[in-house]
Amino acid sequence: MNVSRNDQAQSGSSIPPEVQQQLRMVFNQLPNTVPLYLFTQDGRNDVYNHAAKEIIRSFAELGSKVEFHELSLDHELAKKYRVDTSPTVLFDPEHYSVRFLGAPMGEEGRTLLETVVLMGLRKSNLSEQSLKILEKVNSPRRVKIFSSPTCPYCPQQAVNAIKAAIAKPELISLEIVDIQANPHLADLYSAHSVPQTFANDVLIAQGAQPEELFILSLEKMTEQTVFIPDIEAELVENDLVIVGGGPAGLTAAIYAVRSGLNTAVVERDTLGGQVATTPLVENYPGFTQVGGKALVDLLVSHALEYVTIFQGEEVMDIEPEEGLTLITSRRRFKTKAVLLATGANHKHLGVPGESRLSGRGVTYCSTCDGPLFKGKRVIMVGGGNSAVTEALYLHNIGADVTVVHRRDTFRAQEHLTKYLLSANIPVLWNTEVKEIKGEDKVREVVLYNNVTEKTKTMPMDGVFIAIGYLPAVELAKKLRVELTDDGFIKRDQHHRTNIPGVYSAGDVEGGYKQIVTAVGQGAEAAMSIYEDLMNPYWLKQRPASSG
Ligand code: NAP
Repeated sequence: MNVSRNDQAQSGSSIPPEVQQQLRMVFNQLPNTVPLYLFTQDGRNDVYNHAAKEIIRSFAELGSKVEFHELSLDHELAKKYRVDTSPTVLFDPEHYSVRFLGAPMGEEGRTLLETVVLMGLRKSNLSEQSLKILEKVNSPRRVKIFSSPTCPYCPQQAVNAIKAAIAKPELISLEIVDIQANPHLADLYSAHSVPQTFANDVLIAQGAQPEELFILSLEKMTEQTVFIPDIEAELVENDLVIVGGGPAGLTAAIYAVRSGLNTAVVERDTLGGQVATTPLVENYPGFTQVGGKALVDLLVSHALEYVTIFQGEEVMDIEPEEGLTLITSRRRFKTKAVLLATGANHKHLGVPGESRLSGRGVTYCSTCDGPLFKGKRVIMVGGGNSAVTEALYLHNIGADVTVVHRRDTFRAQEHLTKYLLSANIPVLWNTEVKEIKGEDKVREVVLYNNVTEKTKTMPMDGVFIAIGYLPAVELAKKLRVELTDDGFIKRDQHHRTNIPGVYSAGDVEGGYKQIVTAVGQGAEAAMSIYEDLMNPYWLKQRPASSG
């Protein structure tokens, strides 16, 4: 059936017609109805009240499985369920204790959708590994997650918590707090980056976690970073495992599957890598301007036509025995080839106060956390494309931003630099951050001018850091993959590393670190892997005396 933009306008829904059709099918198959109660009060957060009504109405119009109840904060049910914030959405409150404070817009739409589906199924869909850990939780956990509509990492953490609240409704309650609609709550908890997760008012995680690590953190009530699954974890056998779901990994997946390789992609965090948090991309051919997340969504939909993506799952170890065995937080893969497309992690300044105040005003993601700093004083540290692009984004959303750069010229492309200067964004040249100060949150920065050799202290609310990336080579090191002197993976023109069957692509290889080069490297690596699996070069290289 052909649907036009007019159909969308006529239905009054903000959901595109083709997506409406898919959702209708999914909702109709749900065995249970999901009642959603939206509590609002006129005059309190009206913009968000209106948005929440519109979004939930659009869902309820998609069939009979979502029941929408619009109530005022004066209603007796508000008292019964102790609702005092406008807007608040309660999800099937007779069965579960899950609420959303704000309007589930933007990225949070995914959280809304997954909650409806899981509650309609009355299933947590937690992995066997997670359920085993959850069995040990035997006292109440009041989980609170701070999230934002512009944060692509947030739905992963919110869905982890929703699954836990569905699996153990008698002990686990969940409140997802949109920081844009509830800045006072974010201030109260000093939650100035998202996602941040509290249980019984104790901070148990900053950032999104793989599901099993979230459940373990919830059980232990402190952030966990390592989880090794039981040996009985599911075993998957295939031709190729791609570690990393950024542009290089996803492109490689498309090429590999189309060549006939049985392939899986494993990604610990959000799909799309650094591009997912890039406010605007202006140099990807075919798009004059495209939001980073919008480009990622297109790439992910394309890849999903071909490949299974294991998202929110972390590769903990790789053993180069009998082929290659990868141990993830959820299963084991026995595979013939591994492509390391693990990308890079943001660099830290390494100054006093940076790590202590991380999430308390120090942040590395302007799209995620920028909206909390509207009308506030922030600095953007760095002089490359990222710093300039993100400074423009912060300026455009109303933050009072100053760029701090250690030299007197930018490394960023001239085109971007011109934008920044024409927007009259102040730049402190030849300036280094020496310290970030504040007890509970960022209050001041100490800046040193390396020409005048003068130091000054400036009052500050936020410190955004975009000073480049370091290659993510932890797995490569475990496999004894050789690295270059700069710490990137060393590979030949076929993207082969020194370990037979192990390849690399994208930013982990160094080079130009552009989206367009990453997708090219992903395609090259996949084609090379296909040729090698058909005709393994490592068998030809065996010394003659070994036979
Ligand atoms: P980058 O190009 O490596 O630039 C890092 C910047 O941070 C440099 O200006 C550097 O100063 C400064 N810096 C590094 N370490 C520092 C420290 N310890 N203290 C203070 N300043 C420090 O990193 P990026 O901007 O994140 O970009 C990474 C890659 O992504 C690049 O290849 C870039 O082209 C690409 N990218 C492209 C776009 C786009 O085209 N729209 C957008 C984002 C990123 P110096 O200049 O003095 O070395």
